[in-house]
Amino acid sequence: MSNATPQETSNKETLGFQTEARQLLQLMIHSLYSNREIFLRELISNASDACDKLRFEALDHADWLADDADLAITIDVDSEAKTIAISDNGIGMNRDEVISHLGTIARSGTAEFMKNLSGDSKKDSQLIGQFGVGFYSGFIVADRIEVITRRAGLAASDAVHWESDASAEFTVERCEKASRGTQVILHLKDDAGEFANDFRVRSIVKKYSDHIAVPVKMKSPAKDDGAAGYEPVNQAKALWTRAKQDISDEEYQEFYKHVSHDYEAPLSWSHNRVEGKHEYTSLLYVPSHAPFDLYHRDVARGLKLYVQRTFILDDAEQFLPLYLRFIKGVVDSNDLPLNVSRELLQESPVIGSMRSAMTKRVLDMLENLASDSTENYQRFWNEFGPVLKEGMAEDHANRERIAGLLRFASTHLDLPAQDQSLADYVGRMKENQSVIYYVTASQFNAAKNSPHLEVFRKHGIEVLLLSDRIDEWLVSYLTEFDGKALQDVGRGDLDISAWAGEPEKPSDDADDDRADVLKKIRVALGDRVSDVKTTRRLTGSAACLVLGDQDMGLQMRQMLKAAGQDVPESRPILEINMDHALLARLQAANDPVVFDDLAVLLFEQAALSGGVGLEDPAGFVQRTNRLLLGSA
Ligand code: ADP
Ligand code: MG
Repeated sequence: MSNATPQETSNKETLGFQTEARQLLQLMIHSLYSNREIFLRELISNASDACDKLRFEALDHADWLADDADLAITIDVDSEAKTIAISDNGIGMNRDEVISHLGTIARSGTAEFMKNLSGDSKKDSQLIGQFGVGFYSGFIVADRIEVITRRAGLAASDAVHWESDASAEFTVERCEKASRGTQVILHLKDDAGEFANDFRVRSIVKKYSDHIAVPVKMKSPAKDDGAAGYEPVNQAKALWTRAKQDISDEEYQEFYKHVSHDYEAPLSWSHNRVEGKHEYTSLLYVPSHAPFDLYHRDVARGLKLYVQRTFILDDAEQFLPLYLRFIKGVVDSNDLPLNVSRELLQESPVIGSMRSAMTKRVLDMLENLASDSTENYQRFWNEFGPVLKEGMAEDHANRERIAGLLRFASTHLDLPAQDQSLADYVGRMKENQSVIYYVTASQFNAAKNSPHLEVFRKHGIEVLLLSDRIDEWLVSYLTEFDGKALQDVGRGDLDISAWAGEPEKPSDDADDDRADVLKKIRVALGDRVSDVKTTRRLTGSAACLVLGDQDMGLQMRQMLKAAGQDVPESRPILEINMDHALLARLQAANDPVVFDDLAVLLFEQAALSGGVGLEDPAGFVQRTNRLLLGSA
C-alpha cells in the first residue's frame, strides 16, 4: 500500500484508498443510479464465493466446519434504521486481507474498467460486475458501509471492523465477532430506502441468486410465539446438478453472469452430464462479447472446477485448449480427488479424456449456433474469430471441423464483413474449378483491389479476401477443405486453363519481340526480381509481383521484421501484361535511360498495388517526374 497513511490509535488505523479505488468510489456514489439493485447480486456473489472457499480450505481443516457446518448467507433488513446487512459464514478475512481486498485494487481490471466507461450510467453500471470491482457497488445505494469479518481459524477477538463513507479513507479496527465469516452492513442513502424493504429485497434475491448453491435466508414473518426464524429465499441447489428440463433460460443466463462476471447474456450454452468411465457434469457458455484481455496470454482463463459439488479452483485451464479460452462455465467431476491441485491436474490422465470430450462439445455448440442463427454466429465470429483461427495450428485432430467454422470476406460480396464459410464457397465453385482461391493483404481494400484478382473477376471465379494479421499464418495450416486445395492467387505458377481456357498464344515468351523486351526488363531490374514473365493473371493492370511457392508471405515477413528477426531474402517474379499500353511505350523506347525508368516504374507500380511498399520512394518520385516532364 504505497499511499496508505497509517495513524495508529490503539489498533484503529485510518488508511487511504488506492487512487483507482478512490475514483471508482466517486463514480459509484455520484454517477450510477440506474439498475442500482445489482449491488445485491455482487455482495451475494462474494458471500457465495466465500462459502466455496471455506468448503475448499476445510478439506485440510475439518474442525473449521465442525461447529458451524451449514453454510448460508443471511440477509437482514431494517426499514427504520434504513440498513441492509448481508452475512455469511464463509472464509472471512483477516486484517491484511481486509486492507488489501477492500482498500487496494491490485487488479489491472480497474484501470481497464475506468477506460471503458461510456458516461452512460446504465451501461457503466453493467460494467461493474465484469471487471471484478463488485464490492464497491455497495456504494451505489449506501453512503456508509461497515464490514465485520472473522477469518476461519482465528479467535473471536481477532475479528476486524472495516468502515468507510467512500471518502478518500477507510478505517480498520480489531473487534469481537462470535462466529466465523463476514457481515457487510449498508447504511442506505436517503433515496435508497427500497433496499431495506423485505418484499423488494426478496424479489431481487430470487431474480439474481436462485442458482447459487448456498441458501440465501431471510427472516420469515414473526410466528405466533413471537420467534422469527430464517427461511431460504432461493432454490439453493447448484444449477448444474439440476435436470436440464427444469432449468429456464433466465436461470442459465443468471448463472452465466455469476460465473463469468459478464453483464450480457451468453450466446449459447451446453449442459451435459457424462456417465460411464469418467463421471462429470459440464456447463459451458459462449459469451456474446470478448473480454478486454482476450489476447493477454498470461491472463486467467478456463472453467470453474468442482469436485463432487465442492468448489476447487477458478480458472482451471486444463479442460479446454488455448484457442477455446473464451468459453466460460463449470465442470464438476466425480472422479478427481478432492485434494486435487493444479499440478495434479496437469498429470491426470482423466483430464486428457475430459478435455477432448469437452472440446468436441464446444465445437458441437458452435456448429449448432451457426446452423441455428446466422446472426448470432456472426456476433460470435466478429468477437472471437481470430482466436478460433489459432485452433487450426493448435488442434490437429479437429482441424476439419474448425475449418468448417471459419468465416471469410470474399469477392462474392466484395464487402469487408467476414461472413462466408468455406462450405458456402465450395457450393458456389464453377464446374471446372477444383481449387479454393484466396488473396492475402494487410488491409481489406488492398485485398479487394489486388491486381492478382483481375483474371478471376473476369471469369467470375470467387476469391477469398484475407486481411487479418494472422491469415497468412492461418493458410499455412489450412491447406485444404472438403478435399479441395487452397491456393494463393499471388503465388507460383497459376494454372487457370481449366476455367479460363488455354492461352491464345501458347508461348508468348518465345515470341522474338516479346522475349527481347522481357530480357531487357530483366536486365534493367537487376536483382530486384528473380524473373520477368508474361502474365495470365492480369486483364487491366500492367504488371504484378508474384511470390514463389515456397517464399514467405508479405505479412509474415513484415511481422517478423517488426519483431527484429532476420528474414530470409527472397525476390519476387515480375509478371507483365503484354497487352497493356505501357508495354507498347516500352517497346518503342529507343533511349535506354527512358527504357530503364519505365521498367523500374513498372516494377514499382506492381509493388505498390500489391501492398509491398517501395524501398526507394525518392527514386520513384524522381523517375515519375522525369517521365512526366519528358526530361529524360
Ligand atoms: P471479486 O469478487 O471479483 O474478487 P469484489 O470487489 O467483489 O471482487 O471483492 C473483492 C475481494 O474482497 C474478493 O475477491 C474477496 O477476496 C474479498 N471479499 C469480498 N466479500 C467477501 C466476503 N463476503 N467474504 C470474504 N471475502 C470477501
Ligand atoms: Mg465479487
